Amino acid sequence: MSVTSTHRGTHPVEALQVSRLAVVIVRAGVLPVGAAEAVAEAGNRVLLVGSGTQAAAGELGAARTWHAETVGAAPAGLAAAMAPLVRDVRMLVLPASPDGRDFAPRLAAELDRPLLAWATQATVDDEGTTASLSRLDGRLEVDVRCDQPCVVTLVPGARNPLPPSNGEVFEVVLDVAHGVDAERLAVLEPDPETMDLAEAARVVGGGAGLVRDDADAPEAFALLRAVAARLGATTGATRVITDAGWMRHDRQIGTTGVSISPDLYIAFGVAGASQHTGGLGNPKHVVSVNTDPSCPMTAMADLGLVTDARALLDELADRLGVTP
Ligand SMILES: Cc1cc2nc3c(=O)[nH]c(=O)nc-3n(C[C@H](O)[C@H](O)[C@H](O)COP(=O)(O)OP(=O)(O)OC[C@H]3O[C@@H](n4cnc5c(N)ncnc54)[C@H](O)[C@@H]3O)c2cc1C
Repeated sequence: MSVTSTHRGTHPVEALQVSRLAVVIVRAGVLPVGAAEAVAEAGNRVLLVGSGTQAAAGELGAARTWHAETVGAAPAGLAAAMAPLVRDVRMLVLPASPDGRDFAPRLAAELDRPLLAWATQATVDDEGTTASLSRLDGRLEVDVRCDQPCVVTLVPGARNPLPPSNGEVFEVVLDVAHGVDAERLAVLEPDPETMDLAEAARVVGGGAGLVRDDADAPEAFALLRAVAARLGATTGATRVITDAGWMRHDRQIGTTGVSISPDLYIAFGVAGASQHTGGLGNPKHVVSVNTDPSCPMTAMADLGLVTDARALLDELADRLGVTP
């Protein structure tokens, strides 16, 4: 998308007068998972900090964007520099991405306000913030009310993003001091096999149609994990699979499992029940492998492969040179 109104130069660092604002840390122009949802929850306004923030602003397309290049800034210094800018914002929303989860408590401490972590929704009014917080791997929702300005982290995939618009973009200069702070030694890519399902860009899911019989299940899911790892993806499953104990509960996608919002979801033998697809968010591409061409999963897929799921997985493993 193109940005129509870009105000360059140093926009004066005076406190922003908005009631809610998303704060998103950008790395080399790449937005973290959950960024668009956080912006939507914050009324389509965002402050982007990090590196490549202008490119990220264009991709995000929020109604109002402030962006500051803070390359190499350490988190405590960044929180201190940002605090005067956001001190009047009643609700600050950060995506619960790794950077968001790291930075949110520092910002809350700097502003001397509470942190409402891992929210599935949050609203603000003149009296305070109301939020639902997800606990016990999503099995419990806790409604909280906070009668003062708050910092909130929002679960990725908890809501739909807004369509991008041609919004206004303001450049801000933050003067980050260098003092005693956390030091970044290295940034390691997550292991796809064990990474948080909610944060994965690619997910390969398994359902009952992948399992030939109970005895075959452990091997089928070991192979699914190996193929997924080769594709740079993590694994998910339906409730039928987690209830049977073939995958851990933290791998369950759905309304009583994890909400995801990947770029790619490949579903092997998944029917696509509403309780499952309810946790899919807005995947950019869906591939369904199912013997039933009219099952809901295939109906919503960009590509439906009508074939035996286990046989296709075996063939894929063969071609990729993967063994469980
Ligand atoms: C309160 C409640 C909460 C729930 N929460 C969740 C949740 O969070 N997540 C979730 O996933 N479910 C949840 N469920 C369960 C959900 O309703 C479905 O039962 C479940 O998602 C179905 O899982 P499945 O697709 O693996 O199995 P099935 O419904 O048994 O479907 C199997 C699919 O595999 C296909 N198939 C069969 N053989 C083959 C083959 N050889 N090759 C390829 N395809 C084949 C079939 O055509 C079918 O589409 C919940 C249910 C309730 C009541």
